[in-house]
Amino acid sequence: MICKCILLISTLIVVQCRSILKDEQVEIPKIILKSEWSTKSIKAQVQRLQENPPSYVVIHHSATDTCTMRAICQARIRNFQDYHIKTKKWNDIGYNFLIGEDGNIYEGQGWDVAGNHTSKYNEMSIGICIIGNYNNRVPNQAAIRAVQRLIEYGTSSNKINEKYSLIGHRQAKNTNCPGDKLYELLKTWTHWTKLM
Ligand SMILES: [Zn+2]
Repeated sequence: MICKCILLISTLIVVQCRSILKDEQVEIPKIILKSEWSTKSIKAQVQRLQENPPSYVVIHHSATDTCTMRAICQARIRNFQDYHIKTKKWNDIGYNFLIGEDGNIYEGQGWDVAGNHTSKYNEMSIGICIIGNYNNRVPNQAAIRAVQRLIEYGTSSNKINEKYSLIGHRQAKNTNCPGDKLYELLKTWTHWTKLM
């Protein structure tokens, strides 16, 4: 009886410790919703990911000026949305998420949705755009940390396959995106994958 009790108590402690550990590991990042930055109400139906959780994370840069204040970042994002709708003729902004050098994460298409950012990968990836031009420098620490927090949360909540491959846009298309310096940095991240 005593043995059983000890066993039960120790099992309970282990289970509780595990759940505490799990809660501590997964920080839910603050994500600024599209409804907070967009003035448009878009009725078009979104396309769900074909592979969910997706096995790729594709990193982009916007190749524009950066932003270190939320109001400026939101103005830039509205410009991208306009460009994607008016010039590219897409239904909405193409990226799943955007990151500013203000350290904020902005929702684009969000989780579970196939964006419009990397042909052949849209249905099986989350596309993250870091606002700025990263040919000659890397994004600041606030932006890097925001990307990492977002991916970490994605894998912990089953929104990104935990065995995901991280790639830069240039690996899937003849483009300079996400910029030389940012691409060099991505290659040092553990999930970065060389495509065949
Ligand atoms: Zn790109």
